[in-house]
Amino acid sequence: MVQSSILGFPRIGGQRELKKVTESYWQGKVTVDELLATGKQLRAHNWKLQKDAGVEIIPSNDFSYYDQVLDLSLLFNAIPERYTKFDLAPIDVLFAMGRGLQRKATESTAAVDVTALEMVKWFDSNYHYVRPTFSHSTEFKLNTAAGIKPVDEFNEAKALGVHTRPVILGPVSYLYLGKADKDSLDLEPISLLEKVLPVYKELLAKLKEAGAEQVQIDEPILVLDLPEAVQAKYQAAYDALVGADLPELVLTTYFGDVRPNLSAISKLPVAGFHFDFVRVPEQLDEVASILTDKQTLSVGIVDGRNIWKTNLTKASEFVQKAIEKVGADRVIVATSSSLLHTPVDLENETKLDPVIKDWFSFATQKLGEIVTIAKNVSGEDVSEALAANAASIKSRTESSITTNPKVQERLATINESLSTRKVPFPERLAVQKAKYNLPLFPTTTIGSFPQTKDIRVNRNKFAKGTITAEEYETFINKEIETVIRFQEEVGLDVLVHGEPERNDMVQYFGEQLEGFAFTTNGWVQSYGSRYVRPPIIVGDVSRPKAMTVKESVYAQSITKAPVKGMLSGPITCLRWSFPRDDVSGKVQALQLGLALRDEVQDLEAAGITVIQVDEPAIREGLPLRAGKERSDYLNWAAQSFRVATSGVANDTQIHSHFCYSDLDPNHIKALDADVVSIEFSKKDDPNYIQEFSDYPNHIGLGLFDIHSPRIPSKEEFVTRIEEILKVYPAANFWVNPDCGLKTRGWPEVRESLTNMVEAAKFFRAKYEN
Ligand SMILES: [Zn+2]
Repeated sequence: MVQSSILGFPRIGGQRELKKVTESYWQGKVTVDELLATGKQLRAHNWKLQKDAGVEIIPSNDFSYYDQVLDLSLLFNAIPERYTKFDLAPIDVLFAMGRGLQRKATESTAAVDVTALEMVKWFDSNYHYVRPTFSHSTEFKLNTAAGIKPVDEFNEAKALGVHTRPVILGPVSYLYLGKADKDSLDLEPISLLEKVLPVYKELLAKLKEAGAEQVQIDEPILVLDLPEAVQAKYQAAYDALVGADLPELVLTTYFGDVRPNLSAISKLPVAGFHFDFVRVPEQLDEVASILTDKQTLSVGIVDGRNIWKTNLTKASEFVQKAIEKVGADRVIVATSSSLLHTPVDLENETKLDPVIKDWFSFATQKLGEIVTIAKNVSGEDVSEALAANAASIKSRTESSITTNPKVQERLATINESLSTRKVPFPERLAVQKAKYNLPLFPTTTIGSFPQTKDIRVNRNKFAKGTITAEEYETFINKEIETVIRFQEEVGLDVLVHGEPERNDMVQYFGEQLEGFAFTTNGWVQSYGSRYVRPPIIVGDVSRPKAMTVKESVYAQSITKAPVKGMLSGPITCLRWSFPRDDVSGKVQALQLGLALRDEVQDLEAAGITVIQVDEPAIREGLPLRAGKERSDYLNWAAQSFRVATSGVANDTQIHSHFCYSDLDPNHIKALDADVVSIEFSKKDDPNYIQEFSDYPNHIGLGLFDIHSPRIPSKEEFVTRIEEILKVYPAANFWVNPDCGLKTRGWPEVRESLTNMVEAAKFFRAKYEN
């Protein structure tokens, strides 16, 4: 009998229970016990769900209150000193590392003021992890202050009658994904391997003692281009983790091709391997060849990253091939990766067109797919399930919803002139300077302002029909006016309308474009308590009518300062949606580029001539390995942006924005935007600033962390700008926050922006003399 396995399940709850309780805890509205009780309920629910679905290998320790990588840093005591001096409870240390903490002194507690650790995208997904941050003084040990999470959760499941396989991030990946703290920049995290292995060993021994026979050990970095020195660490690391007192390990990789690193893992003393065959089916022969006759092969064949129904017949055929290679008793049918990246349950969607809904499979439905495939390849009769699946697949293939001949015709018209500005940047700069007459160190924000409860309440009322479109518009205009007046008062130079009408950067557009479907409850964790609800690209994309012009024009009508039009770029719309799997990413990006081109031109025609097209997701679409696939991607990604933005006059100023990824300045140059803003405040590495020193167009390097409630002082801004100006020409420099302000509260936004503008004025005075 072929076994079935899930690498991880969404932790957020079908009704976002985790977000609600975590944010309530941060606001002091619920106790830590209530927070922990909700976590416990969610875990119990998820385990039971998997067990009832018939999944045989069920994970534990896939739960987290913030981020699973951060959990490991806390457990291994990789906690920079700045977080330990306040005598915080362990869970508050965790949250302080994840999101920063600023708290006034009370009679019984001292003041706390500490920034968050760096947060970066998890491989090519839109999940973000908190980067392990090491220094020479890091002393790895099991920090049991809050228990031992993997062991405690294993025992918790056991008490519920569910025998689980704990999940832990493996030692080589854990270190490689980390970085050196600013006081130890010469430290290579991977050099800490010998120090961290004993702690892994201790943890594994405790899991074995608790009854865990196997542990899923994730080594996702094996799909990257790894330096030889890192590849060379695998053998010794895993040799150290075998013993009679330790559980067996199943080494797990996902999101890509392992073959270039295969020699690093081909002799590891593990019980089995897991590979992602959704992404790279071609790797089967080679990866199977490294297995001994005892090792198991976990076949990742149900997509952990997308929402399309698996073609069960095709997937079964693939698993059959694996069985022919290693035998049925050593094959496990699995999800390609953790299901963390998919929404919880399709059954929560009551408003989807039933025809389209039938094409989808969310995390809960994928449990059934895994079990059906395992049964099918084991010879059980699942013909009814297969027939229903085949009918769904056929319905999608043959549907007219997916194809629009007009869009395809227009796509064929894209050429060099359609995707190039009329004159080079220096010429555009001259006419833009004359037109906008901005001061040195122009100040702006990235787009969104606090999304208050009032905004959410009114949006829901409008969605439910309890207020009219007219009443809603009046409300939105009032919000826009508040934001405009506020910016005028603070003294910002290029204003934004604040985006009160938008629920999300991509969903808002998805709802207005043809070719998209959207869910009401399809939330996916992006980071911490921030979840997104990605729209789904179901067919050829086009724009039936203007999407953003009304709000921008209203904002511009009530101020003399320039107001930026705000759009999400083609790659961001693609990457933050669930893309189609029946046409290429390039085709989808160019279709989006054309739709946005129409919007850019409508904005321009309506008098909005500063237009920001955000591409924060451009880096996450980058294929994980260097090579042709990557250079092709960079070409079509930049082209789709230029298709969207090249139809404008020379004095129309195109902005773009990027955040939360390690950017290569060359990727940004290729977009040829007039001004770019980049999340930057947590980049401590002076070399990173240096990399942008020859950026030819104008740039704003983000000056404060918008994920943190803490407020930088004017002096802090001044110091930061001074540092940047050591390498960056003052004439090209814009002053702005890291990213949009929608998750922040008004009081902190007011203070932070006031201090930021004061700092800009300080430099203006200094440089204008
Ligand atoms: Zn951003």
